[in-house]
Amino acid sequence: MTAPFVSAPAIQLRGAVKTYGTAHSAVHALRGVSLTVRRGELVAIVGASGSGKSTLMNVLALLDDVNRGSYRLDGVDVRHRTEDELAEIRNSRIGLVFQAFNLLPGSSALRNVELPLVYSGVRRAERERRALEVLEMVGLDRRAHHLPAELSGGEQQRVAVARAVVNDPAIVLADEPTGNLDTVASGSVLGVLRRLNGQGRTVVVITHEHDVAAFASRVVEMRDGRIVADRPQSVSAAPSCTGAGGRTA
Ligand code: ADP
Ligand code: MG
Repeated sequence: MTAPFVSAPAIQLRGAVKTYGTAHSAVHALRGVSLTVRRGELVAIVGASGSGKSTLMNVLALLDDVNRGSYRLDGVDVRHRTEDELAEIRNSRIGLVFQAFNLLPGSSALRNVELPLVYSGVRRAERERRALEVLEMVGLDRRAHHLPAELSGGEQQRVAVARAVVNDPAIVLADEPTGNLDTVASGSVLGVLRRLNGQGRTVVVITHEHDVAAFASRVVEMRDGRIVADRPQSVSAAPSCTGAGGRTA
């Protein structure tokens, strides 16, 4: 990927309102959230459990629609689209990582990473080449033929990150990708996400306050369905373990 202009917005969410349930039992998950993320930014979203982080992420990922508000992705209005259109935008532009790795247990790391390319109709030799390339980027090319159960948690999550970017998305969204990992493994996963950002990708990660110090250049804090803080942060140090070098985590 070539480096994009940092000034162009990748994500423009305006006045997003999301309410679950009925009028009697309404849960106000988003109470008017506006967020602009520019291309090439690395943003951490923090906040207590139930503050609306996952709801926001699902909206940004086009997995869920808001009740009110506008959403532009790369300058294009993405509300009021058909499911097919949304799937096409997701597949071509967005890489998603969740807390659970969601790898197919009976398939090798390589086959798991290839999967999105199968759906895109890419031929086998090309699939393998591209899957190996991203596995190398996350430091796991030598584990390509291992099953998920033969990998550590941190390695499994890095396979999941490789799978998320094998289609070369401009935007990577991750919802607590380190939630199931110990400190060392968390560092290796956050290191990979930083590297993806270094390649010019826009990265938005829901994570814990204690993880962001050496990680994100911008921290957005949510509370009770609202953004209550949005602060720049100087990244003090590289994470201890940065993927390619961190084969053990
Ligand atoms: P976080 O990720 O910050 O923990 P969530 O976005 O998951 O917060 O949840 C925000 C609020 O919305 C919570 O009160 C949660 O219980 C509620 N909520 C989330 N998803 C649903 C749903 N599908 N149906 C009903 N309520 C939901
Ligand atoms: Mg959540």
